[in-house]
Amino acid sequence: MSNESSNIDLKLFIEQFHDFLAPKLDTYEQALYLYIFRHSRLLGLDEVVIGFKSARARMACGIGEKGKPMSENSAYEKLQSLKSKGCIEIVSSERTGRRLRLKLPSEIPGVITSPADEASAVSIEDMDFFSVPENRPFILERESHHCFYCKRSLNSENYVIEHIVSRPEGNNSYRNLVAACRECNNRKNDSSADDFLRTLYRESFLTATELQSCMEKIERLKNGELKPKI
Ligand SMILES: [Zn+2]
Repeated sequence: MSNESSNIDLKLFIEQFHDFLAPKLDTYEQALYLYIFRHSRLLGLDEVVIGFKSARARMACGIGEKGKPMSENSAYEKLQSLKSKGCIEIVSSERTGRRLRLKLPSEIPGVITSPADEASAVSIEDMDFFSVPENRPFILERESHHCFYCKRSLNSENYVIEHIVSRPEGNNSYRNLVAACRECNNRKNDSSADDFLRTLYRESFLTATELQSCMEKIERLKNGELKPKI
């Protein structure tokens, strides 16, 4: 049987492996993945049975304890992590080893991203969610139609987009904007979001827990963890 029977475009495979999959795998996972590939898909086989007790010595060495092959335990651990990353299926455990099925990088959902995907992932950081009217509802949605400060429910007619850090220091990024009711927007004015939240707490508009969670949310906002869905 010749390698041609696999019908694998090896150039494409190596490119996709290194450019997209390898950055998501640690060195042991990479070694395992390539070893499984070598003994299955490269030969045109859908499945392969691998006994890790001996195979581990033929995959890689010197990553953990210097110069030694990976332990059998590590091999099984990394097999599980490859499975959780969608790279392999563990079909069954057999007397001679594990029966495995390997997916090529192009067969693992979300691994190969196009330049267009990457461009749109970057551009949210440059989007103006204040001055561009059609971007404002994304912030309202992110707040689940509630005022960020007093939790009153909002609809598309009565909400305003509010700056956590007021202009001119604050910008129009999703990291600095929340949806709020008109009253909170007027009352907050130029005071800091923290001070305003404490005022609402003192006036019993917020419980201690709500105050705490709002403060944490502001931190997460600044860190870019609360991206609106576009
Ligand atoms: Zn409010």
